[in-house]
Formats: sequence, structure tokens, C-alpha cells
Amino acid sequence: MSGQIEYIPAKSIVHRAKDTSWFGAEYNMNIYRGCSHGCIYCDSRSDCYRNDRFDQVRAKADALRIIRDDLARKVKPGVAATGSMSDPYNPFERELNLTRRALILLEAYGFGAAVATKSDLITRDIDVLTSISRTMPVICKLTVTTCDDGLAAQVEPCAPPPSRRLAALEELSGAGLFTGVLMMPLLPFLEDSEENVRAVVDRAADAGARFIYPAMGMTCRAGQREYFYQQLASRFPGQDLAEQYRRRYGTRYYCASPRARALWDVFREQCGCRGLLYSMGQIIAASRRGYGTEQLSLF
Ligand code: SF4
Repeated sequence: MSGQIEYIPAKSIVHRAKDTSWFGAEYNMNIYRGCSHGCIYCDSRSDCYRNDRFDQVRAKADALRIIRDDLARKVKPGVAATGSMSDPYNPFERELNLTRRALILLEAYGFGAAVATKSDLITRDIDVLTSISRTMPVICKLTVTTCDDGLAAQVEPCAPPPSRRLAALEELSGAGLFTGVLMMPLLPFLEDSEENVRAVVDRAADAGARFIYPAMGMTCRAGQREYFYQQLASRFPGQDLAEQYRRRYGTRYYCASPRARALWDVFREQCGCRGLLYSMGQIIAASRRGYGTEQLSLF
């Protein structure tokens, strides 16, 4: 697969985060541009990102040298997040090892890591993640929007199925890593049932997750919206889903499930029963426990 990848120029890759409210990460790092997992709701397709070939994964040229130089220049180490704009464990990564080698660089320069993915390939790097976690926080986030592999094959057609993601979560947590689930988005009219919310919480807890961070709905922007509606029409014919979205949400950015309130009640209750954290403040605090805040640069 690595033979087909295209490289794009980049000046820097590790950027200081605007704020630390997202899992406490002080830095962001995107080694790849675009993603081949094909999620029909992906926000990164939005026009504002100006990537009209989003489904084609491209790697930043000379990424490891740039990352090394970026890290060497940072005055204070902190947690670097990856996975916000593209999946760091896309299929090319299996051969390219760019994410793996970037993690090794993070460790060498005293940084922690927060990784978000839909791929079980993350388990390949348990050794590096464990090694980082001896001195700095590591947060592993597996996205699960439904426990139904069949439905996931429609809405996340090229990503590994949720059953494999949950198995990966079990391996990560079994290795002692701080691991949890991003239950976002929760697609209105498709995934927003109480049964699905309960199932995601239960399966995550069974797999050893420490937290679940949810959204009871989805975000939608220009570019992303048109693609999403086209896919709804072709993948769920006769269900009139796109029309339901149009009628209810128009061009609204945040599309909350019509059942959001009831879903929150079920979610909180189930997380309470299963001992899972779900507030960002608690998740960040738990991920840093034992490291000593003096080691970290809480900007
Ligand atoms: S895995 Fe993430 S970045 Fe890739 S298509 Fe799905 S939502 Fe987008």
C-alpha cells in the first residue's frame, strides 16, 4: 500500500493547541492528510478545510525529521494529540510506520500522547505507548458510534468494525494503558436509541474502558452535509433520512438527537453503574494522576 501514497510538503507538524480543553493535550500533530476510512459523517470533509480529495490519504513529506525538529524546539514538553483531522492508523500506516516512529520521537523528547483512532492497528504500538506512559500521560481513544457491525459497515464503510475496535480496547486496557471510547457522533435517526447507548457503555466497560466521551448528536457543516445526505440516500434507500435531517436541522451546525435528553439520562445512569468517567475534567484529571502536574505544561 505504501507504493501508492502521495507526499505533500509541510513546514511543521507539531503545533501548540489553542487550549487544553480537549483531553488536556497541549499539542496537536497530524502526520497524514485525508483519510480512507470513509465515514459518511466525517467533519474533516467540510469545505472549510479545503481538501477536495479527502478520501485519499497523503503523508507529510519528511514527516519524522519535521516532527523531531518541532519537538526539539518546544520549550516545555506536554501531551501531543493525534487523530483529530485524519486517522493516524489508516491502512498505509501498517507499512509506513510514521505514527509509530512519531510516538517513539514523542517519548525521546519527553512528551505524552493522546491517540484517537477507529483502527485496531493501534495495538501494534502497545510497546511504545506503554513505554511513554512510564513517564508521561497516554490516552488511547477508540471511536465507537454503534455496537452494530452491520450498521457501522454503512456509516463507517472502510474502518475496522466496532467489534475489532472494542477488542483492541481490551488489549490496550489489559496492557495497563488509560483507554476509553469516543461515542461521537451519535447519528440522529440511525444510532440514537437507548439500546445503542446502553450497548456502547456496556461493551466499553466490559473491555476495560476507563471513560466514554459522548455527543448526543452530530455536527454538520457545508461540504460535509451534502456528502452525508448523498450517502444517506444511497445507503438507506426508501428511508427518507436526508429529508428528515433537512426538515429538522436545516443548515444548523449542531444537530442534537431529538432524544438527546433521554439519552443523556440513560448514558449517565449506565456510566454510573459501570464506573466509567464521562466528564472531560474528570477524564483529564484521571489521565494525569500519578504523573505530577509539575511535569506538565498546563498552559
Ligand atoms: S476515521 Fe475519522 S478522519 Fe477518518 S473518515 Fe472516519 S471520521 Fe473522518
